[in-house]
Amino acid sequence: MRIDILTTFTEMFPAVLGASILGRAADKGILDFKLHDIREYSENKHHNTDDYPFGGGAGMVMLAQPIYSCLDAVDPQHEARRILLSPRGRTLSPELAKELAEEKRLLFLCGHYEGIDERVTYAMDEDLSIGDYVLTGGELAAMVAIDCISRFIPGVLGSSESAENESFSEGLLEYPQYTRPAEFRGMKVPEVLLNGNHALIERWRRDRAIELTLSRRPELIKGVKLDKKDMAFIESLKMNEKQDK
Ligand code: SAM
Repeated sequence: MRIDILTTFTEMFPAVLGASILGRAADKGILDFKLHDIREYSENKHHNTDDYPFGGGAGMVMLAQPIYSCLDAVDPQHEARRILLSPRGRTLSPELAKELAEEKRLLFLCGHYEGIDERVTYAMDEDLSIGDYVLTGGELAAMVAIDCISRFIPGVLGSSESAENESFSEGLLEYPQYTRPAEFRGMKVPEVLLNGNHALIERWRRDRAIELTLSRRPELIKGVKLDKKDMAFIESLKMNEKQDK
């Protein structure tokens, strides 16, 4: 997948896009990152990329001209799905990440300062938010989105890594994980994980995932496909809770 990133802070990206799983996917040619410095497209004498807002108010607003010129140069035929990082956008979710992972080409536009001249939105396909809070710029949001989307692109995760059985993959939070040693500072790994009985391990993991989801994110449970064993487990939790009161 080709991923174009339009930003005034290109220097923020190489460490994240060049390391670990994303870096490996780029080396394999599965991901092709192209960074574009919006400043280079400014026709302004001082290569400014922002100006004061019409109507007054705090902060600076990013100019339309350098962004439009950059878009014209980078994606002249509008082949990429163009995404503006913005707190006003649709919130990133596993479903949206999966949908975006199927595109051939994505383009991310990172805002900065107070935001972007509204006329830039006419050239974009959609706004994307990474959560209900405000960052100083869209660069971190773009990196979060790229990381999350990439995990759903075939070949990005190695065989030992998987996007399945993770938090949210079935609507549940993930069960607890342990590695060696079996006992550390007096804390023991649950016995069931050591006995090699895969059916029991699966059941234990499923129960723990349900228990964690119910206690931390109960609103997620209604979106989970629960079978009879799951329902029986939830009933037993409720009984225990009543007994404890
Ligand atoms: N004034 C804007 C508002 O209230 O909606 C916020 C501007 S913010 C300081 C600067 C830039 O950071 C935005 O243009 C956007 O690109 C990015 N940004 C901030 N919060 C974000 C979020 N939650 N998700 C995605 N991008 C975000």
